Amino acid sequence: MIEVKNLVKRYGDHTAVNRLNFTVEEGQIYGFLGPNGAGKSTTMNIITGYLAATEGEVTINGHNILEEPEEAKKCIGYLPEIPPLYMDMTVLEYLKFAAELKKIPKEKREKHIKEIMSLVKITDMKNRLIKNLSKGYRQRVGLAQAILGYPPIIILDEPTVGLDPKQIIEIRDLIKSLGKKHTVILSSHILSEVSAVCDYVMIIANGRLVASDTPDNLSKLTLGSNTVEASIKGTRNTVVKILNQIEEIQNIKYKDSELPGCVDVTITTAKDKDIREELFYKMAGARCPILHINSSTMSLEDIFLQLTENPGKAEKAKTETPQAISAEESEAAQAGESEKVSGEDENVPEEAAEDEMPPEKGMEKVSVSGKPNEEGEQ
Ligand code: ADP
Ligand code: MG
Repeated sequence: MIEVKNLVKRYGDHTAVNRLNFTVEEGQIYGFLGPNGAGKSTTMNIITGYLAATEGEVTINGHNILEEPEEAKKCIGYLPEIPPLYMDMTVLEYLKFAAELKKIPKEKREKHIKEIMSLVKITDMKNRLIKNLSKGYRQRVGLAQAILGYPPIIILDEPTVGLDPKQIIEIRDLIKSLGKKHTVILSSHILSEVSAVCDYVMIIANGRLVASDTPDNLSKLTLGSNTVEASIKGTRNTVVKILNQIEEIQNIKYKDSELPGCVDVTITTAKDKDIREELFYKMAGARCPILHINSSTMSLEDIFLQLTENPGKAEKAKTETPQAISAEESEAAQAGESEKVSGEDENVPEEAAEDEMPPEKGMEKVSVSGKPNEEGEQ
């Protein structure tokens, strides 16, 4: 239905979209998920023919967006990040105007507009000037404009930004119902939103596709490992030596602890391994008391962070960020990050010297679970 090949967009020497490849199939809801500045709007503007790509190709239902823009655009309804509304028109005037532009046959227009207004719940506002509408209602008018003519593909750029929680739920429900008859692509920087609404998620960061799969499969990535965080009293040398004796450990990160005389460690093991008892007895034997221990499985948020953020930064944010993560929130969480000490110690095992889980870990698994991660690296 939509095919995007090797898409590149450069602004001067800044690459906003960097070799994106993906295919969108009919009748599904797709989510573009990524932090602010990831390249979501740029990609959507190119797909919808509002912006020319630097390189690459977009085909909509077999029509190349550059060679047959009219045919291609006919298949798409688009709600851009800033909806193209005319403030001095009433809702009805605006929708009539939009219907005319979309060449909806005159005799059908009135009935169709009525139906769409009822669908997005703006009928009561039809005679209001758009400039007098609240943000939520303006967004709905923008959405109405995108749905007019029931195009097979509906593309919505951050459709719930700036809405209150009740409006967000309504718009999400509306998107879900649209997904029954249309192919929908929406963008968001909020993970919970995308996993609540979408059949398929494409995570983009720095203009690249870093993962793409169903929310379920992305969640399964979280089943891959367990983490144990502990503050252990003792010298780093001793702690490292003892941890080296525990076979089940896959990866260790060391950090300076806020507790005096302690080392903070984050240990990764396979999901089915629980090393806490062994850790307790071994550390007790070496007279290195564990002052704090916490075990967790990786959440979808953690994976999102690992894939989209500087991998070194993801670790701290992980412990502090609840529920839905927006880019701003995660940045805030990282701001207070304490310095990590890398394992330069000669006793540090090879894996531990990494000081952090490689981001490729998640990516590897995503591509295993099947879908386009090709061109991941140049
Ligand atoms: P997103 O929608 O994911 O937040 P955008 O597609 O808006 O991201 O932007 C991607 C990157 O391209 C950002 O770094 C942004 O600053 C840059 N960018 C977007 N539009 C322009 C432009 N017109 N000129 C220069 N840089 C731009
Ligand atoms: Mg955007």
